[in-house]
Amino acid sequence: MQRIVLASGNRGKLAEFGALLADSGFEVIAQSSLGIGDVEETGLSFVENALLKARHAAQVAGLPALADDSGLCVPTLGGAPGLHSARYAGGHGDSAANNARLLRELESVPAAGRGAFFICVLVLLRHAADPAPLIAEGRWHGRILDAPRGTQGFGYDPLFLPHGQSLSAAELDPALKNRLSHRGQALARLHARLGSEA
Ligand code: IMP
Repeated sequence: MQRIVLASGNRGKLAEFGALLADSGFEVIAQSSLGIGDVEETGLSFVENALLKARHAAQVAGLPALADDSGLCVPTLGGAPGLHSARYAGGHGDSAANNARLLRELESVPAAGRGAFFICVLVLLRHAADPAPLIAEGRWHGRILDAPRGTQGFGYDPLFLPHGQSLSAAELDPALKNRLSHRGQALARLHARLGSEA
């Protein structure tokens, strides 16, 4: 098994990515277990930040690295919350405050202007100077509701009504959400790329 370092401290992601990459011959290890800390996310786009994170982890660990970056984009708001999705209302990871701010920003906007999408970008570097990273992206389209619905999921899920669904992302069965979501799509694409390159 080839070890690969995951540039994230999130345990859920470690399990999810670990399961997916095991059959591609990779053993996924958390960067924190190697004493590697977070790098400053100075990019202006999701793909830039995912590259920064993967390159930092690959450089310090001397191993292949995988990083992801994700968030919610609302075109009516110029793409916000965008790169600031986790801290839209100030404090990092305060989902209730983030959702409240999103509702305020869209207060008088009718349904037609409430289109939104989640995006997830995955970057795999075989080594820190890899000039041809594997990049896989997923987008999950929908619109922002007028009020939160549902208690499952996390982040903006209660405000997100996926296209083609009558349930919000926080009301959907979690297994279905994982299959449909931006992250699920990006993971499936990365998996297919790894399969075709093996
Ligand atoms: P990260 O890339 O895991 O740090 O995600 C950044 C932020 O985007 C999270 O803190 C959430 O606010 C938002 N986000 C990303 N994916 C999802 C999702 O599947 N549901 C709800 N919010 C999400």
